Amino acid sequence: MIRWCIVLGTGAAMSCGCVEPTGRSVVISPLPPPYYIPYVHDERPVTPTTMPAEDPDPTEAWYPDGPLFEAWGFIVIHHSATPYGSMREIDRAHRNNGWDSCGYHFVIGNGSRTPAGFIEPTPRWRRQIEGAHTRLSPKMARQSGVQPTYYNEHGIGVVLVGNFDEVRPSAAQMAAAAELTKFLMKLCRIPEDRVIGHRDVDATDCPGRLFWMDDLKQRVRALKWPTTMPVETASAHPSDRGLGRIGQGGFQ
Ligand SMILES: [Zn+2]
Repeated sequence: MIRWCIVLGTGAAMSCGCVEPTGRSVVISPLPPPYYIPYVHDERPVTPTTMPAEDPDPTEAWYPDGPLFEAWGFIVIHHSATPYGSMREIDRAHRNNGWDSCGYHFVIGNGSRTPAGFIEPTPRWRRQIEGAHTRLSPKMARQSGVQPTYYNEHGIGVVLVGNFDEVRPSAAQMAAAAELTKFLMKLCRIPEDRVIGHRDVDATDCPGRLFWMDDLKQRVRALKWPTTMPVETASAHPSDRGLGRIGQGGFQ
């Protein structure tokens, strides 16, 4: 009863027992005269209470722990070439290879160990350490005119779990890859022609013949989010400064 009184207000109060036992109605004293409320100017923006709380920023976890390494100049896309995997599993495998940790900077799940499209930044990215994902063969390095470690030193390694020689990446994975790529392009001012597949610079099929870089780039172009920060042109990129013959236009 008490609850109903509160919810429905005084109108309902009379009908739900808020009447004195004698049967007399409660005497309601007249309203006090209007009084003056001093106006205080408040600089704070008014937020309507009906507005939904702002969604948490999904990119929050994609920032490194410390300052951003300035010489990132490429985003290099890979596949794991396995039907399953996660950052933890790749980390274990790479440590078995003798590396200090997972060689990539980001791992995008395929629904096997982590949800499809789930993005895991690795400790290597958090600490802004060069990658261990695109070391060139001496022959390819010679042909490109760069050191074999060039793309590890300047490339942000993004791996999608899956073997894309056999299956196509899922829509969820592609959408996540596009969002992450757009974010990294903006954050590190990397132009589109420096978003490359591993195979674009080395003798490999990675990220698999069923992974289409054009599809990824089209999705990236269609995204307006996350920021409006302008992307610099290839020729203006700081990684061009004194870093061999890789230059204007990249490898598209
Ligand atoms: Zn690769």
